[in-house]
Amino acid sequence: MQVLVLGAGQLARMMSLAGAPLNINISAFDVGSENIVHPLTQAVLGHGLENAIEQADVITAEFEHIPHHILDVCEQSGKFLPTTDAIKAGGDRRIEKALLDNAGVKNAKYAVISSREDFTKAIEHVGMPMVLKSALGGYDGKGQWRLKSADQVEAIWAEMEACIAATSTQAIVAEEFVPFNREVSLVGARGKDGQVEVYPLAENVHTDGVLSLSTAIEDAGLQEQAKAMFTAVANSLDYVGVLALEFFDVDGQLLVNEIAPRVHNSGHWTQQGAVTCQFENHLRAVCGLPLGSTKLIRKTSMINILGEDSLPTSLFAMEGCHIHWYGKDKRPGRKMGHINVCADSNEELVTKLVALARELDKEAYPAVHAFAAQH
Ligand code: ATP
Ligand code: MG
Repeated sequence: MQVLVLGAGQLARMMSLAGAPLNINISAFDVGSENIVHPLTQAVLGHGLENAIEQADVITAEFEHIPHHILDVCEQSGKFLPTTDAIKAGGDRRIEKALLDNAGVKNAKYAVISSREDFTKAIEHVGMPMVLKSALGGYDGKGQWRLKSADQVEAIWAEMEACIAATSTQAIVAEEFVPFNREVSLVGARGKDGQVEVYPLAENVHTDGVLSLSTAIEDAGLQEQAKAMFTAVANSLDYVGVLALEFFDVDGQLLVNEIAPRVHNSGHWTQQGAVTCQFENHLRAVCGLPLGSTKLIRKTSMINILGEDSLPTSLFAMEGCHIHWYGKDKRPGRKMGHINVCADSNEELVTKLVALARELDKEAYPAVHAFAAQH
């Protein structure tokens, strides 16, 4: 089976690693250069979308900010999954919000802003404080503003106006500020036959808008709520593949923050912590195979390696510590790899994270250090 992934980053790389034992071969399409590349070596294997489509049995994506003309050509080939509508929703907060409303899942109150008048109306409708997010192109907390008081309105409007003017289809989505207790996410898969399997929820810590620490949790009440919302969204899209929902947990009530129509950073823990990892399950789904079990096998946390290209050798000596590099050149803040740390009990996981904090740099891993300081 030959699967083409739109995007040639770490998610395509990890799909390739998961697909190899199943004889599922991955090639990656770099949407910028239009080169077909090997997802592990980045060696150029060919060029052009037509060629790439021709060689593929199935086409999928590792990110949502894909030019619509590329998605449309893939759709016409009849080979694309999970559905181009899902990718378009993930890449445009206006479509995403409408989708959540139509699926009947709770999300933060919002308004769409294209003009100064819209901004005034949004402030009346949504209220302050509010979070303002560019409709297109946002990721890792980029393209966002926080409006807390009336004296900030003009300065923020000047920046938002420039953002709207830069792209003809751009707009801003204003959202009420949600006073959440914590952030959690649900990663799951829906098969071609409509079968839905979800992993245990992950509790997520962000540092400067980027995921830094993610831990699989077991909470039957929240899990049930999250699964119901997941199923509503996935069914409404007739989705096939792995999908992630990010939530705000407000006193035990979940509100969807956003969806990611793909394998997700908060699901990387499944490589060691679940029976079948998210990458294999995505491939199983899009290839029309039965889904693998999503059961937790060990308590697991995932630590993102941001902007660093080496780790202390001592980590290799820690039982249950698994290192995953992405083979990228070092750049400040860049997602370079992750560490999965597994344990047989919650207590042992805490002990291991505290031990890891002693080995890892405080500046580069603030979430691990904050965790250790609390335990
Ligand atoms: P991602 O990398 O997950 O795609 P993103 O840039 O698309 O990130 P969001 O997930 O929408 O952005 O927001 C980034 C973070 O900002 C959230 O994880 C959350 O911590 C905070 N945030 C976003 N929206 C709100 C809100 N309405 N109320 C409070 N905090 C918010
Ligand atoms: Mg997010």
